[in-house]
Amino acid sequence: MSFKPFNPPSRTLMGPGPSDVHPQVLQALGKPTVGHLDPSFIAMMDEVKALLQYAFQTQNPFTIAVSAPGSAGMETCFVNLVEPGEKVIVCRNGVFGERMRQNVERLGGEAVVVDDAWGTPVSVDKVAAALEAHPDAKFLAFVHAETSTGALSDAKALCALARKHDCLSIVDAVTSLGGVELRVDEWGIDAIYSGSQKCLSCVPGIAPVSFSPRAVAKLEARQTPVPSWFLDQTLVMGYWSGTGKRSYHHTAPVNSLYALHEALRLLHEEGLENAWARHANMHQKLKTGLESLGLSFVVDEAHRLPQLNAVYIPQGVDDAEVRGQLLNRFNLEIGAGLGDLAGKAWRIGLMGHAAREENVTLCLGALEEVLS
Ligand code: PLP
Repeated sequence: MSFKPFNPPSRTLMGPGPSDVHPQVLQALGKPTVGHLDPSFIAMMDEVKALLQYAFQTQNPFTIAVSAPGSAGMETCFVNLVEPGEKVIVCRNGVFGERMRQNVERLGGEAVVVDDAWGTPVSVDKVAAALEAHPDAKFLAFVHAETSTGALSDAKALCALARKHDCLSIVDAVTSLGGVELRVDEWGIDAIYSGSQKCLSCVPGIAPVSFSPRAVAKLEARQTPVPSWFLDQTLVMGYWSGTGKRSYHHTAPVNSLYALHEALRLLHEEGLENAWARHANMHQKLKTGLESLGLSFVVDEAHRLPQLNAVYIPQGVDDAEVRGQLLNRFNLEIGAGLGDLAGKAWRIGLMGHAAREENVTLCLGALEEVLS
């Protein structure tokens, strides 16, 4: 058997992630690999850390990039902070809140689930009631931007409630980081994780994570060892710490971290507020066009994510056929519905480098053609 080099098709990625990767990020990925303890690489890691602190709007010294996808970022937060028997209020308004619940239960924690309908944000009132009813809860966990539905929750209000009830907040910012307002320190977020492949427009496989000093204190006061060796942040700290000698923990994905450095550098160059505004503007253009095609949104306007546009599939339209035509005729990927929305909605992403005018024009033109 002989095998040829793999040449991927050139797609425009407007699904729920991965998003279009910026060409400069792809170039960074192809630079020569150095050792993961090479002084030049360590210096670059320090910049990655500073750039992540900027992206998260935090001064947290414990701000790192986990060498694994967003799910590992989620697991990093739960596995390090939640101990057996501890109670966690988990908000579930889509797929990823449910994944949080499973994390808690696998760790022997007790999940108190606050359910909200798919397509709606987490109800601040329901969370307030749950925190009143469970004064022994130690954590409040929720998804800021639910990628399965396109709903944005009020992270600021939810984290204020967590503080009021002396709970640590654990926040999923996989889809929100870089796409909508997010202020870790100002909002009092304790543990937060994200992914490289959404609004950062980097290659998939890296999970930015940040712990507040309160979260680090909780980790350091654990009664039981962290049940995962790889994700145990007390061991990882030695590799990512800002001062002193770096010690080997695992072989970092060197080239992927070059890519993350470039993606974060581009975000910094653009400015966070400008990036948030660009996502909002592109969403407005896309929304106008989608509505003129007769498509309606799953999420009401007040709680809609600009970077994830979930629209109902019109009656009588074949979901797979339309997505297949978009891919085969226009090299355009949009997302299928997930979970409760499978077969009922499309998810059109405007994430990071994908949130630009030419993508909006391509998507609207292609959809018009395929749907006519
Ligand atoms: N959380 C949210 C909100 C997500 O959208 C995703 C992925 O789409 C994840 C977690 C998991 O990230 P990953 O697929 O990189 O493991």
